[in-house]
Amino acid sequence: MRKLIISIIYITLISCSTLKQKITFANNTVVAHRGAWKANNFPENSIASLKEGIRLGCADSEFDIRMTSDDSLIINHDPNFNKLPVKKTTYAELEKFKLSNGEKLPTLREYILAGLENNKQTQLVCEIKPTDLGKERAEKIIKKVLATIKEIKAERMVTYISFDYYMLQVIHLLNPKATTQYLNGDKSPETIKADSLTGLDYHFADFNKNKDWIGDAKKLGLTLNVWTVNDPQLMGFFLENKLDFITTNEPEVLLELFKKIK
Ligand code: MG
Repeated sequence: MRKLIISIIYITLISCSTLKQKITFANNTVVAHRGAWKANNFPENSIASLKEGIRLGCADSEFDIRMTSDDSLIINHDPNFNKLPVKKTTYAELEKFKLSNGEKLPTLREYILAGLENNKQTQLVCEIKPTDLGKERAEKIIKKVLATIKEIKAERMVTYISFDYYMLQVIHLLNPKATTQYLNGDKSPETIKADSLTGLDYHFADFNKNKDWIGDAKKLGLTLNVWTVNDPQLMGFFLENKLDFITTNEPEVLLELFKKIK
């Protein structure tokens, strides 16, 4: 009996320490925008571009999520895929068209599962595209994204970004532990903090218009990210200003620059 109790305590301790094992994302500021696609001519938002972002050791790899007419979550930037509107087309119809490298159009589940393989350092940045089909549809999209990520046990590997402030608020409501960055550049760091979102991810011109926002966000403990910075001089500016993340189509260039400046 004593042996049994000791074994149970031992197993419990082991499983607790495994659960609490902290993921350490790569110590750089590089977010591969739609994965790392440019240097190898991969399609944007493909699993190949995600895997390349991971192989390069980027801190983050970003991708875009949309919902089909039959409620499938897919990875695609534009509202259309092969001239078909994603929101009005079923996944079966869309899937008939391959990406330019022969990959099938990835679902969110497939994409995240691929992103979990051999990946201990690259956070997966889920951009949830806004919908023009109303709040109920927005809530449905968020619920399904969160449920999918929970089901495949990827919660600690993801962060959420969106141009839709309401969608981010719904994420916070449903999962207060989730990290959220707002993209649209029209809210002050104070507002973002007051609404319990965790960061801002703005176009570089928005930081130019609002010069205090970098300092204000740092004081409030918000995550700072900027998009989409492809010019090395501009990369240098944001590196010197110590932003947490810089989103780029040129992750190789930014990784080199980060090493030099660091
Ligand atoms: Mg995006």
